[in-house]
Amino acid sequence: MAGNRTFTMIKPDAVESGNIGNIIQMITDAGFELKAMKYTRLTEDQAKEFYAVHKERPFYQELVDYMISGPIVAAVLEKENAVADFRTLIGATDPAEAEEGTVRKKYAESKAKNAVHGSDSDENAKIESDFHFGADEIVD
Ligand code: GDP
Repeated sequence: MAGNRTFTMIKPDAVESGNIGNIIQMITDAGFELKAMKYTRLTEDQAKEFYAVHKERPFYQELVDYMISGPIVAAVLEKENAVADFRTLIGATDPAEAEEGTVRKKYAESKAKNAVHGSDSDENAKIESDFHFGADEIVD
């Protein structure tokens, strides 16, 4: 059965362009409830660990450098079928391929600087949420 939580980050490009509020509005309008939220800046070690699954990809260091280039917002979201529904809300990795009305279509700069992260499985949603938040930081 699909889980009811996912993890997101508003990435440095969207924070820099002043779109934190617009993106959170889209998320809550789509029926997601905030369970935890943090404005923070990743260290290089944190970014490397978070994206370790991509370490063999040619863009790994570029991705790490981008993710530490400015502050981010990290959040845990709750909704029925959260992981899949959130991936639909944010759209394709590359904003040029994202559907109209998606977060990335509206606010992402490029495939690399693509405004938001969304977990790709229930398992990763749990790992990524635990990476950023202790159990006592998640509001029930
Ligand atoms: P996602 O699940 O839609 O976020 O996409 P992926 O898991 O494939 O990639 C993870 C993240 O790496 C993306 O969200 C982008 O920020 C970044 N990324 C993906 N492709 C590229 C690329 O070709 N170049 C660079 N610099 N970054 C990329």
